[in-house]
Amino acid sequence: MTRVAATPDAVFRARKDQELANLRSLLSGLNIAPEEATQEIKDRFEQQIANCVRQIDREAMDTTTLREILDSKIRPVVTEVQDYLYAVLYRQAGLDNGVGAVAHWMLNDIARRAGVERRVLLSIGEAELIEHTFSMIRMRHQDASVWRLPILVHELGHHVARNLRDVNPNAFAMLPVKTYLEDARDAREHRHLHELFADVFATYVLGAAYPTCVIIQQARPDQGFHDHDQTHPSWPARVHIMLGALRAMSAIDPKDVTAGAFAQMADLNVEPLWSALTAESAGSADPPTQPELRALPERAAELVDLLVRHAPARLRFRFGRAYDLSRDLTSRDDPALPEGATITQVLDAAWRWRANNLSANDNDLTIVSRNALRWCEASTH
Ligand SMILES: [Zn+2]
Repeated sequence: MTRVAATPDAVFRARKDQELANLRSLLSGLNIAPEEATQEIKDRFEQQIANCVRQIDREAMDTTTLREILDSKIRPVVTEVQDYLYAVLYRQAGLDNGVGAVAHWMLNDIARRAGVERRVLLSIGEAELIEHTFSMIRMRHQDASVWRLPILVHELGHHVARNLRDVNPNAFAMLPVKTYLEDARDAREHRHLHELFADVFATYVLGAAYPTCVIIQQARPDQGFHDHDQTHPSWPARVHIMLGALRAMSAIDPKDVTAGAFAQMADLNVEPLWSALTAESAGSADPPTQPELRALPERAAELVDLLVRHAPARLRFRFGRAYDLSRDLTSRDDPALPEGATITQVLDAAWRWRANNLSANDNDLTIVSRNALRWCEASTH
């Protein structure tokens, strides 16, 4: 056997070469999903991985610096690429009842209607969130029903906040929402404002379905609604910004006869649901102050106004086919999607039904979710 000179330097070089080879082979995984991993998406991954390769090449001087770069810079990128691949395989295996394909289509359709060109990717994980390097939105593993699609639209709101461009390419503030949000007093308020914008965005796109979904699925009466922290405002503040958004949407165009319906959603659907829930629970452990609550409608109106001025009008929720949808939603005969109905109208119908049937059993929930999901899928063609 030939003797090998096992110097620290030789070991370092061997490890470095191994890591570089791993990075290059990672990209070949994208071939498992040619229909999803379009050239644009491949470019996005390739550029990030090329950056990783450059970083190792230039900055790794010994095993210690190599380890530091791997931990802080390379691992986050590799994790995102792998999560994306797992999610594609998960969807291909049909383990999510087709929810992922519907979510992916819906999110990119809404982004397009917002006038945002950068496509979002969809992966799966512990909780819904967006990772901005790849514009990748996570949905939860266990969600194989229609019910949490509105939460993903909130995550898309974070993407739109960063990417919505001014219609005038010469405008001083090229990214008007991002610029508005940066006006915050400090880092905490900045993060809270981002969340409030994402809530307003989801309400603007989905109408009452979003606040209804949040109240029924997200807000935590068991914690006295006190799970606000450095990143998220309290639930009362979030629900009030959504109510404010619906009311501001009614005031956009005084000539539009249907516009009053948004304020009605706030007054007749969302606020009574919230009041009933908060009256039943022990109350908020740390309620927002009166001045905070008074400031929220004005804030909501400003955020809605940003969307009115900078996004195409077709982004906003549109009413239609509500009667047909609600009539067929509970049918066991696999009813067809009423002509011309959209995903946002289907979600509206599903959440209206759910708010009115909170004690529905598993069987009814399954039928409604299955019909709604089938309709969502049909509307993507
Ligand atoms: Zn958020």
